[in-house]
Amino acid sequence: CIRFSNVSKRFGTLTVLDDFNFTVAPGEKVTLIGPSGSGKSTVLRILMTLEPFQDGVLELKGLSYHEPGGHGPFRASEKHLRKIRGHVGMVFQSFNLFPHMTVLRNVMEAPISVLGLKRDEAEARAVELLGMVGLADKKGHFPSQLSGGQQQRVAIARALAMRPRVLLFDEPTSALDPQLVGEVLGVIRTLAHEHDLTMLLVTHEMRFAREVSDRVCFFDKGKIVEQGDPERIFTAPEHARTREFLQSVL
Ligand code: ATP
Ligand code: MG
Repeated sequence: CIRFSNVSKRFGTLTVLDDFNFTVAPGEKVTLIGPSGSGKSTVLRILMTLEPFQDGVLELKGLSYHEPGGHGPFRASEKHLRKIRGHVGMVFQSFNLFPHMTVLRNVMEAPISVLGLKRDEAEARAVELLGMVGLADKKGHFPSQLSGGQQQRVAIARALAMRPRVLLFDEPTSALDPQLVGEVLGVIRTLAHEHDLTMLLVTHEMRFAREVSDRVCFFDKGKIVEQGDPERIFTAPEHARTREFLQSVL
C-alpha cells in the first residue's frame, strides 16, 4: 500500500531521511516513535505530498512519486500529486479548522470543493461523521466555541469526509489538556478497529500505541532502528537506543 524506497530528504546540509526504506501494508496500523527531530513528521509530510524529497521513490496504492534526482519512471505532475493526496488524510497537532466556518461546513467543505459532491450528499456524510465522533449536537457551532478535544474530533471527521485509504496522525493529542486526551484517543481507537483503513500515527502516548498498533517503529536520526510487535518493542527492545528512549519517556 505504502512504500518508501531509498528515499533521502535533506534540508540544506541537514540530512533528515537517509536512504529510507519503509513499507506499510493495506489496513495496517503503524506507530512511529522516537526522539524530537528524528524525522517522524517529515515521513508523514512526505506521504501527504506536503514535502518534496531529493532521492528515491514513494509509492502509494500503485501510484508512484519521485523527485528530480530520483530514478523513478517519471516526475510527478501537480495532477498526479493531487491524485496521491486524495488517498491520504492527515490530522495535525494543531487542529487547523477553518475558524470562520461552522463545524458542519468544516466537514462538508473539501468533499464539495475537491470531490465535487452535491451539497446534500456532503451534508449527509458530514452529519454521519460528526455523529461518529460524538459531536452531532455541535454542528452549528464555530471552532472557537469548542474545547480542544472537540476541535480535534472535528478535524478527524473532516479528514474522514474525504474517504481516505490512509490516515496520518501527527501527535494528535499533544496540544490538549490532559483531561481532553482520552476522548480523542477514544475516536482514534474506534478507527483503528476498521480493518480497511491504513493508519500511521506519531504519538508520545506509549500505552495507547501499544494498544492500537500492529507494529511500532522506533525512529532515530532518519532511520528505523528497530520495529516490530508493540508488545515486544515495549517489553524487550533489542537496541540500546530504543531502551534509552523508552526509559526517558515511560
Ligand atoms: P518532533 O518529535 O519534535 O516533532 P520529528 O521527529 O517530527 O520531531 P521532524 O519534524 O521530521 O522531526 O524534523 C526532522 C529534522 O528536520 C529536524 O532536525 C528539523 O529541525 C528539520 N526540519 C524540519 N522541517 C524543516 C524545514 N522546513 N526546514 C529546515 N529544517 C527542517
Ligand atoms: Mg514531529
